[in-house]
Amino acid sequence: MSDALMNTYARADIAFERGEGPYLITREGDRYLDFASGIAVTSLGHAHPHLVKALQDQAARFWHCSNLFRIPEGERLAERLAANSFADRVFFCNSGVEAFEAAAKLVRKYFDDRGEADRWQVITCNGAFHGRSLTAISAAGNEKYMAGFAPHVPGFTQVAFEDPDELRAAITDETAAILVEPIQGEGGIRAPELDYLRALRQICDESGLLLVFDEIQCGMGRTGTLFAYEQAGIAPDIMMLAKGLGGGFPIGALLATEGVARSFGPGNHGTTFGGNPLAMACGNAVMDVMLEDGFLAQVQAVSRNLRGQLEDLVQRHPNVYAEVRGMGLLLGLRCAVPNTDVIAALRQKGLLTVGAGDNVVRLLPPLIITEAEVERAIGILNSVAEDFRQAAE
Ligand code: PLP
Repeated sequence: MSDALMNTYARADIAFERGEGPYLITREGDRYLDFASGIAVTSLGHAHPHLVKALQDQAARFWHCSNLFRIPEGERLAERLAANSFADRVFFCNSGVEAFEAAAKLVRKYFDDRGEADRWQVITCNGAFHGRSLTAISAAGNEKYMAGFAPHVPGFTQVAFEDPDELRAAITDETAAILVEPIQGEGGIRAPELDYLRALRQICDESGLLLVFDEIQCGMGRTGTLFAYEQAGIAPDIMMLAKGLGGGFPIGALLATEGVARSFGPGNHGTTFGGNPLAMACGNAVMDVMLEDGFLAQVQAVSRNLRGQLEDLVQRHPNVYAEVRGMGLLLGLRCAVPNTDVIAALRQKGLLTVGAGDNVVRLLPPLIITEAEVERAIGILNSVAEDFRQAAE
């Protein structure tokens, strides 16, 4: 591997040449079933014809003009996101962490506008992940990502995930918002009871706080509804999106209700590339597919089957797979052996997965998988478990 790249990733020594739906293929012709999806990004698989055409068509017209001018495709995508969510307004950026930064700024500006600038503290949860900027690592408060980067950005207090009482006790006169992932991704695919999300809404309403959901990983159809919060029957005031929204093209978005969004006026926030025509063409193409009748119902059906078969695997191989976690196609297997060993063994047999906290192997297949891919993945997971069992004998 090239020494010219900064040494920021522990990469597997594989390079892909092309993708076909749920498969990635190397130059040598080795096919991998992609249950990593570039960490929950390529939700419509690789080289989806509708996405390819949308990107090519836009690429042939023009790529960039900046936000000094109207970008009609961006207006259309914002309107479609708003029409299909709690939100009234959308700000586009290029990544998840940029959506987080925009959210953190919007929370402060909202209270500043109300003459309550002393309310600037945000409560977050242990095990959270919101990205790698200084503010985002400070928000998550995870020592693994913060070590070496002091001083940290002030304004964030962490409480236990799934503990409304501890959260309530942490609220002070300075608290402005609660910011959580409805399902923790990097933290280990931790899906709370839906009542927890409802409790967060209630606490925010009681205390006049903003509820901010980070749906960067769990949004855009991954849990079987367009957004995870829908399953709890409540809505946040602010939401961050990225990953699946562009189908693989870098994009991020901040969504908010009118009452909150109006705190951003011209000059308060911005980005050179955010909302560029290429990204907007891809975002609209993703929405075309995800909003088709039956798309999300199919995600729910295939995920029920996958989950059922994973539960069976845990029954059969409790010494390798200890627990199934998650919702929809945001699934995790907590392992009884090191998750890194499991991921490497799966990869050797042609299945790509991703690690997460709590010794979890994340299974993040593209949302377009069929029963055939489920069977293939389960076969590989089973065969790897057999290998671990035999090695232990
Ligand atoms: N928030 C969540 C929940 C994420 O899973 C991620 C990335 O994994 C981020 C934020 C940061 O997104 P990005 O890597 O695009 O900056």
